[in-house]
Amino acid sequence: MSSPLANIYARLPISFTHGEGVWLWDEHGRRYLDGLAGIGVSCLGHAHPRLVSAIAEQAARVIHTSNIYEVPQQTALAERIAMLSGMQEVAFCNSGSEANEIAIKLARLYGHQNGNEHAHIITLDSAWHGRTLATLAATSSTKASKGFTPLPTGFIHVPQNDLQAIVDAAAAEPRVNAILLEVLQGEGGIRESHLDYLRAVRKLCDERGWLLMIDEVQSGVGRTGKWFAHQWAEIRPDVMTLAKGLAGGVPIGAVVLAGKAAGVFGPGNHGSTFGGNPLVCAAGLAVLSALEEEQLLDNAAQVGSYLKEALEQALAGMDGVVEVRGRGLMLGIELDRPCGILVAKAAEAGLLINVTRDKVVRLLPPLILKREEADHIVATLVPLIKDFLAA
Ligand code: PMP
Repeated sequence: MSSPLANIYARLPISFTHGEGVWLWDEHGRRYLDGLAGIGVSCLGHAHPRLVSAIAEQAARVIHTSNIYEVPQQTALAERIAMLSGMQEVAFCNSGSEANEIAIKLARLYGHQNGNEHAHIITLDSAWHGRTLATLAATSSTKASKGFTPLPTGFIHVPQNDLQAIVDAAAAEPRVNAILLEVLQGEGGIRESHLDYLRAVRKLCDERGWLLMIDEVQSGVGRTGKWFAHQWAEIRPDVMTLAKGLAGGVPIGAVVLAGKAAGVFGPGNHGSTFGGNPLVCAAGLAVLSALEEEQLLDNAAQVGSYLKEALEQALAGMDGVVEVRGRGLMLGIELDRPCGILVAKAAEAGLLINVTRDKVVRLLPPLILKREEADHIVATLVPLIKDFLAA
């Protein structure tokens, strides 16, 4: 009998039984360096004692209550996120897509509250905001949305790093009231929004009364070497979405609000059964404490630069290598041809990576990565890329 598991993933035939630090072991006892951290989730690596005991202790007390009562762990996590981001309000949910869905709902409600009942949101080409219907509409990829029309309307896609394109889009559609973008596009192939561009977008949003909504689902929570990637540009969004690394692997999402976005939602505007339950928030608090006390932001910045430079040096001048790019421990190596095969080849060699936009090898290792482990990534990956390009 075939498996009843829905066939929605092209999975590699590997199952992991346990992990420790940046390492995972499969059922045959083979060890893998996790260069992907579950697509940027396991920021503390695997079986981090502090995260494990926070989860165990909370689970032994109470896993879930309800958002119709006070949830002190949620209040505490909101306070920590507000402090780290300089923002004012936090609403919890369960995934990155859901966080962006809430951001989109907020932009629309903000429109309604200000006499604009058909708010339009500008998003960027190559963006990735999720797989719910509205986030698919926000995501410009036609591959992901193929077959799912009709999608919600009200989204305008413009090229990244092009301020004039935003101005022109808003001239053609005066009901624009928000911009949603990633500072560092992850699924889009590790493509950076330039810091000057981000500052100019911030200014434009201020001038026009638009919401600047930054999707930090992949780039946030220390991954680029700052708490949130927009902090490199020294700007603050009105809306920030988080998920992935925030609770180190326990499903969580958060929408963080400031300025004119704070106070838009009131009781009854949104809700979630699981969102921010005691267990996930205890995990989130442990993650933020460990990142801070173990100075893992600095580590991400330093070991990230070290890894990027080592890859640049090892791949320099190699025919077929377009560019090594990214920030902190969010790195991509663009090749001149589709290279999806490298995912299985790397796994055979004991290294977990993936490939995005067909041609970009992506690395999102745990933020605890040490230099010698970065050396191990380079020593494993570079020969594979060399052989692949020579074949
Ligand atoms: N936004 C960004 C920037 C992402 O990278 C992702 C997931 N890759 C999402 C949103 C969607 O998150 P989730 O899979 O948790 O719904």
